[in-house]
Amino acid sequence: VFRTEDITKVYDTGEVKVYALAGVDLQLYSGELAVLLGPSGSGKSTLLNILGGLDRPTTGDVWFRESRLTGMNDRELTRFRRDHVGFVFQFYNLVPSLSARENVALVTDIARDPMPAEEALDLVGLGHRMDHFPAEMSGGEQQRVAIARAIAKRPEILLCDEPTGALDIRTGVTVLEALNRINEQFGTTTAVITHNAAIRKMAHRVVRFLDGKIKEVEVNESRIMPHEIQW
Ligand code: ATP
Ligand code: MG
Repeated sequence: VFRTEDITKVYDTGEVKVYALAGVDLQLYSGELAVLLGPSGSGKSTLLNILGGLDRPTTGDVWFRESRLTGMNDRELTRFRRDHVGFVFQFYNLVPSLSARENVALVTDIARDPMPAEEALDLVGLGHRMDHFPAEMSGGEQQRVAIARAIAKRPEILLCDEPTGALDIRTGVTVLEALNRINEQFGTTTAVITHNAAIRKMAHRVVRFLDGKIKEVEVNESRIMPHEIQW
């Protein structure tokens, strides 16, 4: 669904230029679950933000199907993001004064064909915690509420930047399992940045970054690509 063509991202801070991305060609296939790995500063978040239309490359093009994101104006890019992309970040960004159900409903209220908040919470294993507030939930539970919120608008793309970053390893696994289940059940194209090793069995591909470039792409032989390699 995504294709980047030789994209770069350069931050010019005055004294120094930082090449956050230095020529990245990557395809993400429809229905795949891909992990982005690499050391701190290697460009993972920069790429994810560009794919999701939160940021733009300095040079190069990004395609979403037949649409060239890099040719869109800000309003079109915002619409792309709203209609197609769900985001999950390290810190869950839930509204503390709203219950789990209400946090999810914030999104379903503005979506075109939303999933009921109850269904979204069921999918992440929190059907029994709908009326609880964030402060009454563990980190892993709060992150699963954030995932429910991200999927409730039925996005085609789910982009997750260190969703397990604030969690211990075992709790992180429950979050990754929720992402994996959503990918399997709905075919949601998912890109995840995580250092939790449990993802390696779930993902179709592992993409390794180094110094703003893709160093290696590894295919998980034990998980067959959903419908062949499909654009
Ligand atoms: P981490 O694992 O630490 O999250 P990352 O792989 O996600 O790292 P990025 O956040 O994509 O890395 O950053 C890539 C490079 O771009 C880094 O050198 C970073 O310092 C630089 N960078 C990112 N955002 C900016 C900015 N707004 N201004 C200047 N430099 C930036
Ligand atoms: Mg990052």
